[in-house]
Amino acid sequence: MPKDFLKGAADQYDVVVIGSGLAGMTSANILGRAGHRVLLLEQHYKLGGLATWFLRPGGHIFDVSLHGFPHGMIKSCRRYWNRDISDRIVQLTNIRFDNPQFSLTTTFNREDFTRLLTTDFGIEPQTVNDFFDTARGMNFYDDQATTTRQLFDRFFPGRDDVVRLLMEPITYANGSTLEDPAITYGIVFSNFMNKGVFIYEGGTEDLVARMKKELQSNNVDIRINCPVEKIVVKNGHVAGVEVGGRTIGCRAVVSNANLRTTVLKFLGDEVLDNSFVEKAQEVRLNNSSTQVYMALKEGETIEESSGDLFFTSTSKEFRTDLLLSRDITSRTFSFYYPRTRPQKKKERFAVVSSTNANWSDWADLNEEDYAASKADLVETTIEALEKYLPGVRNKIERAEAATPRTFHHYTQHEMGASFGTKFEGLGVSRDLPNQIGGMYHAGSVGIIMSGWLGAINYGVIVSNEVDAQLHNESAHV
Ligand SMILES: Cc1cc2nc3c(=O)[nH]c(=O)nc-3n(C[C@H](O)[C@H](O)[C@H](O)COP(=O)(O)OP(=O)(O)OC[C@H]3O[C@@H](n4cnc5c(N)ncnc54)[C@H](O)[C@@H]3O)c2cc1C
Repeated sequence: MPKDFLKGAADQYDVVVIGSGLAGMTSANILGRAGHRVLLLEQHYKLGGLATWFLRPGGHIFDVSLHGFPHGMIKSCRRYWNRDISDRIVQLTNIRFDNPQFSLTTTFNREDFTRLLTTDFGIEPQTVNDFFDTARGMNFYDDQATTTRQLFDRFFPGRDDVVRLLMEPITYANGSTLEDPAITYGIVFSNFMNKGVFIYEGGTEDLVARMKKELQSNNVDIRINCPVEKIVVKNGHVAGVEVGGRTIGCRAVVSNANLRTTVLKFLGDEVLDNSFVEKAQEVRLNNSSTQVYMALKEGETIEESSGDLFFTSTSKEFRTDLLLSRDITSRTFSFYYPRTRPQKKKERFAVVSSTNANWSDWADLNEEDYAASKADLVETTIEALEKYLPGVRNKIERAEAATPRTFHHYTQHEMGASFGTKFEGLGVSRDLPNQIGGMYHAGSVGIIMSGWLGAINYGVIVSNEVDAQLHNESAHV
């Protein structure tokens, strides 16, 4: 008999949260803490969604998306999780760039970028100041027609090198391109420039273990290996979810699964307005990623001067299509030292190389070509790393790759999307409760709400709305 992962689950909850990504877990935690009866359903055997890690023989642990996030994570984790978590967030100060246009090291904040832009790049201090102020002043209600390219053309016309410095890390961080609305750039860039890049010290497994403990202390009923198939709607209001052959009743649903999956699969056009379904169908997914995980043999080390995050590219110019191409020219290396990623008992060094990627380049490969392409990805990445760390090949004990297919496999995200949807997804996600009472979506959308901080903050926003709805309904009763 297969194990019943829903054994003991009640037939009725106040809220069902579908998916345990950072947005889903944060929503569940806040709602549980507020005293609502919350069921958290995760299809995978682990909590965390894309905030995940994996263990390999020899005690090697690799982080998938723990590379860097803005300072705002400290406040969000302190308020909506606990101090135990927020106190473990530390700054990464050694951010490096190397490409045919420039090589530099920075602390990645406004002060240091001002220094670089005025001295190394020769831009007028007033222009730099105006640019920072404009980016910082952007918010969701701003003009959404201006593109990031137009923003750069206004301040730095003809300066491809400046655009590269300002844009490459943000494209890496949230998949936004020069063609996306400037606010998707401005908001995320300013978040980083506020104080720099931060990381959770202790590894993703430690963070997720602490989050799980906090969820349990707030009485959230957590169920893994439980893929939700359908959301049940009655008289224009959510009534429950179908999972594991059961229908579990609830007054509100927060879906942390991909927006398109939530609307088009869990709900379906029979319960939604045609125009809303059309809008959801038009939502474009953001790009996916490839990664190469490399662990050093016990006793082998990497100098900390190698950097924490290292943006490298061999391309002469900055172009989004080149960032996504199978013919990889850009790689972002994350270096994990025993200090930044302590592991129990063992002093270990690891490097993870990440590159944005197109689903279509990987989706249709047959098994043989797929295996060969993965092997090639590992090989060419080690070659690229050797340029900066001569002899590193001999120090590596284990190296393996993840592709858009891997991300799809573990999260069920259509096309292995790493950062949710393009900008238009935000409007559809926000409009869901107007379509169906009690139906919410919290998760990476609109570029702005993606990344660790964006996802957590979106989980906060949505849980407040759910809380208000539940209170309103109770008041009416
Ligand atoms: C390679 C890579 C590197 C990244 N690097 C960074 C970084 O350095 N900094 C940063 O801030 N962000 C980074 N990100 C992005 C960041 O990890 C994500 O934006 C964030 O974790 C997404 O959180 P989420 O809440 O939107 O949901 P997700 O993490 O996408 O989780 C959704 C959850 O829903 C579950 N689910 C789906 N369908 C069902 C179903 N039917 N039933 C039940 N559960 C379901 C999934 O299994 C998953 O657990 C990176 C992402 C990738 C892929």
